[in-house]
Amino acid sequence: MTTNPNTRGNALVVGAGVVGIATALWLQRHGWTVTLLDRQPPGTATSFGNACTFATYSVEPVATPGIWRQAPALLFKPDSPLKVRPAYLGKIAPWLWQFLRASSERRVHGISRDLDTLLKPCMSSWSTLLDDAQANHLIRHDGSLYIFEAHERPVAEEMVAYHLPFDVPIRLVENHELHAMEPALNARAALGVELPKVSRTLDPYALSLRLFQRFLEMGGHFLRGELRDIQRHAVDSEQVVAHLASGQTLTAARVALCTGAWSKQLAGSLGDHLPQDTERGYHVLFEQAGQLLNRPVCWGAGGFYMTPMAQGLRVGGTVEFAGTQALPDPRRYRYLASGARRFLNLQHEPSSQWMGFRSSMPDSKPVVGRSHLLPQVFYNFGHGHVGLTLGAITGQLVAQMASGVPTAVEVEAFSARRFL
Ligand SMILES: Cc1cc2nc3c(=O)[nH]c(=O)nc-3n(C[C@H](O)[C@H](O)[C@H](O)COP(=O)(O)OP(=O)(O)OC[C@H]3O[C@@H](n4cnc5c(N)ncnc54)[C@H](O)[C@@H]3O)c2cc1C
Repeated sequence: MTTNPNTRGNALVVGAGVVGIATALWLQRHGWTVTLLDRQPPGTATSFGNACTFATYSVEPVATPGIWRQAPALLFKPDSPLKVRPAYLGKIAPWLWQFLRASSERRVHGISRDLDTLLKPCMSSWSTLLDDAQANHLIRHDGSLYIFEAHERPVAEEMVAYHLPFDVPIRLVENHELHAMEPALNARAALGVELPKVSRTLDPYALSLRLFQRFLEMGGHFLRGELRDIQRHAVDSEQVVAHLASGQTLTAARVALCTGAWSKQLAGSLGDHLPQDTERGYHVLFEQAGQLLNRPVCWGAGGFYMTPMAQGLRVGGTVEFAGTQALPDPRRYRYLASGARRFLNLQHEPSSQWMGFRSSMPDSKPVVGRSHLLPQVFYNFGHGHVGLTLGAITGQLVAQMASGVPTAVEVEAFSARRFL
């Protein structure tokens, strides 16, 4: 990597998903010469296929009080949004144990407060990058809706009650108004909860590509390759050396690991043994149904969103614990397609299907902060269900830490140290 004397020095960002690209852009804005490394083309891993929403309301962690009572039924009943592959149960058990421990009322409120500190400034962080990259044509600001069947009214009311103290714009929408807002929904959708300030992208992949293009325009370099490990520089204590699978080495003054679901081993090789695993998620696309809904509509009980987007109606979500190696389970695609048909008249079969790997921590908070052995190395992974939402703000925080300037948000709550 060549050093530009006008910059702070060389930074390496590993992982060119939405989190890594946003981190690279923020590092450039702080004066670093940045190389972005990925073993696959930018934006083609988990960031490709998400449900497109900037979920600024998402203060509630996945593990909520009482989940330990619901978990067995959720995990093992055949028609469930949550699945574990029997062969993976032993591997995921320690993660699940920490997940259950994070579900006490006290912990959940603390986690919500922490997440709120990231969620409040996340869209202004995005605005900076979107304006600069001229990417606003890929964004819509039409809110989102959760829908509920008649017997789920208490769940809808609890959802509103939980979010109001965090000043999340949210309101209950009664039946007639719900159907006026979304005429394509059938009578099963009995009431809704509207989140009027939620934005979405029309195409997460196009968004990653536009941001990546801006990164190149700003003088960034992209390198295709796989990081194996990072070590101290033998003579220069200011630098670290990244070793690639190809045998190539890269020297940098800062490294940001934005390696999503594949971060556990890399952090472990730096002595940070973190409980990171993957919640695999799926989507199916109904190409002809892009005009059916006016905004993303989520059926919380079913664990999926139905999002109108550039390519059609994307039905995406659910959680499967099966690691990063197992092939997709085709029953998950059928689950999503029939789940969408529960509320919408969808004539055609899905035209495409996809599975991706959320990088998930048991407490639903991302890991943002320094490696304890190599202070030049920064973590930025574990965004779980909200990596699109939080990618810009956590990238900004990493760039601020890497540059030694005050951070926009207090970062201690997101440090890897909480698990060590
Ligand atoms: C079905 C589904 C729906 C979702 N919906 C939403 C939503 O509506 N809103 C939201 O905010 N979030 C959503 N998410 C989550 C969001 O998509 C992710 O949090 C986000 O994409 C994570 O981005 P990332 O850059 O960390 O990971 P990725 O996009 O997975 O990128 C990580 C990159 O790191 C690279 N990499 C890993 N290891 C190495 C290595 N050793 N060497 C080189 N490269 C490496 C990989 O190749 C990959 O390209 C959803 C996720 C799923 C699965």
